[in-house]
Amino acid sequence: MSSNVHALELSKAFKRVDDGLLSEADVEEAFRTIIRWAGDNPERPGLLDTPARLVRSFREFFAGYNQDPASILKTTFGEIEGYDEMIVLRGIGFESHCEHHLAPIVGRAWVAYVPSGRVVGISKLARVVDAYANRLQIQEKMTAQIANTIDEVLKPQGVGVILKATHHCMTTRGVHKPDTDLVTSRMLGCFRDSPLTRQELLSLVD
Ligand SMILES: [Zn+2]
Repeated sequence: MSSNVHALELSKAFKRVDDGLLSEADVEEAFRTIIRWAGDNPERPGLLDTPARLVRSFREFFAGYNQDPASILKTTFGEIEGYDEMIVLRGIGFESHCEHHLAPIVGRAWVAYVPSGRVVGISKLARVVDAYANRLQIQEKMTAQIANTIDEVLKPQGVGVILKATHHCMTTRGVHKPDTDLVTSRMLGCFRDSPLTRQELLSLVD
């Protein structure tokens, strides 16, 4: 069985765990199969507890499937004295996993918006990043999801999202290019229409 098929089986397994159709013991067994396939013995002392640890790790890595990003942004504040300039949360660290290799994607996000009458608690912007990061992802899609959700829920004058991340599927395997990172962005509303607004955001990214 190829590693891709294993990954697919695992992601299906987690879906079925959430549906109550599959126990954590079943998922541990899937991890034991992978260890055996890699050439080691899952019953030796050093590996005995590894499948259970992996289940807990995967719960953490993929906690985003149990979160609704739109509802994170539901509480907003209207007493802002007419504030209508850019709000930027800079350098939000995130860890994700690529959907092609289940390899880590480690990076930072810059999330900006220009409000139209209401603002959201700033920690909620970081929580939206995490809700999408803690899923199987590609960076391009994750960038768009963050921006689209903020745009749809807050209905601001504009949203700008920039992600910079290192993809372990190309730094530690495959083409082995350790010093690369990928930059993606999605600009909506005034960030898309106004070169000055876009430039102001870009000047805040390091
Ligand atoms: Zn990958």
